[in-house]
Amino acid sequence: MKYTTLGRTGLKTAVISFGGIPIQRSDAANTMAVVDRLEKHGINYIDTARGYTVSEEYLGRALKGRREKFILATKSMARDYEGMKKDIETSLSNLQTDYIDVYQLHNIKVGDFDTVFGGNGAFKALLEAKKEGKIGFIGATAHGTDSLEKLVEEHRQDIDTLMFPYNIVETQGHRILQKAKEKGIGTIAMKPLAGGNLDNRPLALRFIAASGVCDISIPGMGDVAEVDKNAAVRENLSPLTEAELEEAEKVKKELGSRFCRRCGYCAPCTVGIDIPSNFLFVNYLRKYGLADWAAERYRTLKVNASDCIQCGACEQRCPYNLPIRQMLKGVVSDFARYEESKKY
Ligand code: SF4
Ligand code: SF4
Repeated sequence: MKYTTLGRTGLKTAVISFGGIPIQRSDAANTMAVVDRLEKHGINYIDTARGYTVSEEYLGRALKGRREKFILATKSMARDYEGMKKDIETSLSNLQTDYIDVYQLHNIKVGDFDTVFGGNGAFKALLEAKKEGKIGFIGATAHGTDSLEKLVEEHRQDIDTLMFPYNIVETQGHRILQKAKEKGIGTIAMKPLAGGNLDNRPLALRFIAASGVCDISIPGMGDVAEVDKNAAVRENLSPLTEAELEEAEKVKKELGSRFCRRCGYCAPCTVGIDIPSNFLFVNYLRKYGLADWAAERYRTLKVNASDCIQCGACEQRCPYNLPIRQMLKGVVSDFARYEESKKY
């Protein structure tokens, strides 16, 4: 595995590291197998979050007895002092450790800054935890360039790492990430495979490694096979050739910016629709020549896109401002068209 230094933290981190979102769709036994495989491949940076339901807990169990072999990062959506203090303790307990290497402010938005960095804000709790030796470094994650820029411009001394979406179709943070790197902030690419929308994994991960603005990327890995696939890319992290750059450009044009990253922030849907799964299945229907499989999976959903009551609650929570209601209508009509076509 190729390693790099994560900015001013000095942590020697695998260039392709581990994103823990998919663990919440997993179980304790599978998580153990995943961590075994991470260890085998030398993937040493594990990122999770308080918000990823069981992820911290399962990872904590799997890390028992080998905590020191990994760099642990987690995050909290708490914005105030008490909330963050409580969440740090919960993370320590879930992860079964007395020390977390990087603790991040999760999905910070411009409107959160006054509270977070104010007298009674979450940042104060992070500073205290750092002084007490409970956490090593303070990081932040964001989805909007406005908040990323504000972090770099106004808080570059406070924040040691920044995590931001970066992939073939989402390079909007490039300039600001470059600035962050120049200031010694460790930079982490989230959504390296654009939420599963990029099929060519080696191309996608090499694109990020060659960008020069992301120290590491953290593809989500929910099973051993995914760990192996990501680890395999380490063998060749060379810059993209002209032909590969053209291919990346083609992918970017095809995918556009209106696609679901499967982050799950839109949940819970008022009527129980699993929004990202609906978008995933329709992608398979539209693009990957797996129409029958996609339709079969869509049919198994107890509640699906056609049940949307158009309340709009999900759209307020989507960090990518996707017009979810409109997109779900597209899901309904595409599957209806498919079912119709099967009648003849
Ligand atoms: S708009 Fe539709 S998908 Fe979104 S929360 Fe409401 S019912 Fe669910
Ligand atoms: S619709 Fe938005 S919030 Fe929901 S999973 Fe997709 S990208 Fe994430």
